Amino acid sequence: MKRLVWLAMLSLGCSGQVDSPVAMPVPGRDDVLVTEYRAHVAGGLSDPVEMNFSDGTGAVVLEISGSRGQYRVAQMVTPDGVDLIENGGWMTRDARERPGLVDWLYPNSPSLKLVPGGYRLRFTALDSTGAPVDDDPTVRVYQRKLPAPEAGGKLHVDLLVADDALAAADVDLVAGQMMSLVSQLYAQVHVTVDDYTSQVVPLGGSDLSLDGGASTALLDVTARAIDHARTGAIRVLLVRSLSDGGNPTAGYALGLPGSVDLTRPTAAVLVATSSFVSPADGSLDVSGLAVTCAHEIGHYLGLYHTVERDGREHDPIADTADDDTSNIMYWTGGSTRHRLSDGQGAVMRLHPLVEATAPVTACDPGCTPPLTCAVAAGATQCLRACDPGDPTTCTDGAECKLSDDGVYVCF
Ligand SMILES: [Zn+2]
Repeated sequence: MKRLVWLAMLSLGCSGQVDSPVAMPVPGRDDVLVTEYRAHVAGGLSDPVEMNFSDGTGAVVLEISGSRGQYRVAQMVTPDGVDLIENGGWMTRDARERPGLVDWLYPNSPSLKLVPGGYRLRFTALDSTGAPVDDDPTVRVYQRKLPAPEAGGKLHVDLLVADDALAAADVDLVAGQMMSLVSQLYAQVHVTVDDYTSQVVPLGGSDLSLDGGASTALLDVTARAIDHARTGAIRVLLVRSLSDGGNPTAGYALGLPGSVDLTRPTAAVLVATSSFVSPADGSLDVSGLAVTCAHEIGHYLGLYHTVERDGREHDPIADTADDDTSNIMYWTGGSTRHRLSDGQGAVMRLHPLVEATAPVTACDPGCTPPLTCAVAAGATQCLRACDPGDPTTCTDGAECKLSDDGVYVCF
C-alpha cells in the first residue's frame, strides 16, 4: 500500500498536474482569483508548472512557498513560446527571496502586456549557502483582472506603531499627517489611500537589524505586529530603528512585490523613526517619514529603484530617468523626493492589493504655461509649478507646496 502511494506521488511529480487546479475567488474581491499548484523540486530545479491565465487578466502575482528554498525564476514561457527570463523582458532580481517564500509580479513594466493562455514556469531552489535543495513547494497564482483604461486605484493602509517608535509624539496626529502626504504623493498616478487605521502595538523593543531582511528576529517581530492588522490593508510598521550590517536604514519592504496573502510574516513594510528625529531638538520630520513610507509601499506594489546605488542597474520602466533624484523610487534621498512617472503608476495599479476605481477625469487642461492645473484648497486651479528645493520660484508670499493631487505648486 505504501509503495502504491509513493508511486502515485512520483507520477504526479513527473507529469506536472493530473487535474487542473481550480481558480478560487479571493474573499472580498471579485477581480482577483487565486489558483494553487503543487510543484516538485529536485536537485535545485523545479519540474515545469503549467499555468493558465484566463482572458481579461491584467497581471499575476506568483508566490512560491515551501520549506527551505530561496527561489528564483529559471524560465517563464508565454503562450507565444517566448521565455520572458531568457529575453530579459521580465525583471525579478532582488525579489526579496528568503528561505521558503517569494512573490513575483508579472508584468512589472508597461512595455510588457500579459497575454492570456498557457504559461510554463520553472524555478530554482537553493539554500542559504547556494546549494541546490529538494522541496515540494506550493505555487499560488493570483490573477488580477485588467483594470479599465484610465482607471484609478485605491489602497487601504494599517499603520502599526511599535510602542517605543514615536516616544512622546501624538500617534494619531503623526499618522494623519503621514497618510495624507502619502495620499497626495500617490494622487499624481491616480492612486489614493482610501482609508487607514493607526494603532500602537506592544513589541518590547523595536531596534531591529535587517540581515538582508532574512533575520528571524525581525520576521518574528513583524509577525507579532501584523497580527493586529486588518485583512485587505497594506501594513506599515513604524519601528524605532533599522540597521543593516551596522548601517542605519530608513526603511525596508519585506517584499518586492509584497505578498497578496496578508497572513504571511513578510506582509509589511518597515519604516524607522530614528532616521527622522532631529539630533538638534528631537523634532520629528514627518514629511521624511511619509516619503519613505511612500517609497517602501512602492516596493511592495512592485516598483524597483529607478536606479541603484551602483548607477548601473535600472528599473524596467521606460519613462523613469536615472538622474531624476526627485523620483520617489530613487535609491536614496530625503523628503524632497516627490515624483512618480505614469509608467510607475501603471505598475502600482496592477498589484492585486490596489483596487480599481472609476476612471479618473483629468485636471482641467485650460491653463496657460507656466501655470499648471492642480487641486488645492478643495478647488481646481491654475497655479505656478515649482521646485520644492528652490524657494525662489514662488512670489508674493506664496509657498511651494504639494497640491491635493500631488504636484508642487505655489499657493
Ligand atoms: Zn528602496
